[in-house]
Amino acid sequence: MCPVPEELLAAVRSRGRVVLATHVNPDGDALGSQLALADILAGMGREVLCYLEEPVPHLYRFLPGSERVVTDLDRVFTFVEKAAGDILCISLDCGDLQRLGKSGSRLGAIHPFAVIDHHRGNNGFGDLAWIEADRSSTGEMVYDLAMELGRDISPAAATCLYTAIVTDTGSFRYESTSSHTFAVAGELVARGVRPDDMAARLFDNYSVGRLQLLQRVLATLEMYGGNRIAVIRVTASMLRETGTTLEDTENFINLPRAVDTVAVAVFLKEKTGVVSVSLRARGGCDVSRVAARFGGGGHRNASGFRMAGRSLDEVRDLLVPVLEKELGQ
Ligand code: 5GP
Ligand code: MN
Repeated sequence: MCPVPEELLAAVRSRGRVVLATHVNPDGDALGSQLALADILAGMGREVLCYLEEPVPHLYRFLPGSERVVTDLDRVFTFVEKAAGDILCISLDCGDLQRLGKSGSRLGAIHPFAVIDHHRGNNGFGDLAWIEADRSSTGEMVYDLAMELGRDISPAAATCLYTAIVTDTGSFRYESTSSHTFAVAGELVARGVRPDDMAARLFDNYSVGRLQLLQRVLATLEMYGGNRIAVIRVTASMLRETGTTLEDTENFINLPRAVDTVAVAVFLKEKTGVVSVSLRARGGCDVSRVAARFGGGGHRNASGFRMAGRSLDEVRDLLVPVLEKELGQ
């Protein structure tokens, strides 16, 4: 672990207005880090604006502060203009400017632009960067930043940071889970977070439709590479039949990943005009390298990419041989 860069601390200490941004299709770490840092900075008397390209997904609407997230870029620029230069933009949990979405390049025009992230493939964008690829989550880093700033964590921010950590570590199961991760989580529990409540909110929250969707998705299971590669898929018609959305597929990929022979689990998701692919590894395979070959990225154990103009079968047929080769078969 590295100390928080001095320039980042100086920027946070000196700037009056802060825009917080995170990646598209935000997950628990993206939103949890964003909302927790908003709470911490507001506690320091800063004017804070949280920006997302799309509204907060249903699953995360219980997070304190989620109702204040702004999806209108014009409001961001009105906020920036009012700052008359006394501004800072912080991108959280995002490995490159494009992952901030269509608004990325406009947000990138705010200076100084700081980056707090733990993605292995982070391409070092921004004016001030604090990137630690071995961290469990950006939430863990935001906790350390608060400590360096001499700020305590409110119960609201603790809920957000616990969400960030527990989701990005797969409930403390991934390789990136360190003793420090547990120490931070322990501090959050000491500030009132209830792990049982959080598990109920985040994981044990199925509707009947969602369980029926899982039934259909698991029925698509295909095994390759001598049972080392597991592939599942979701189609638009499955969503229609069960009255669900892609948000309901969250964590489904952990089931094929849980097979003891599996080294890589693949989840193919049919969207309009594009196939979105999630990859999860267990053991030594670095799926971020595979995702990068298809124009995506991510972490060693969790990564993804998108492919336009191909069917689910075509994407599978392109991907499986690459994975087999990566696994030395
Ligand atoms: P998920 O499978 O949950 O969509 O994504 C897992 C991780 O892979 C994300 O945290 C993100 O880092 C990365 N990822 C997913 N899709 C993309 C993509 O299209 N481009 C890049 N650069 N990273 C992605
Ligand atoms: Mn993350």
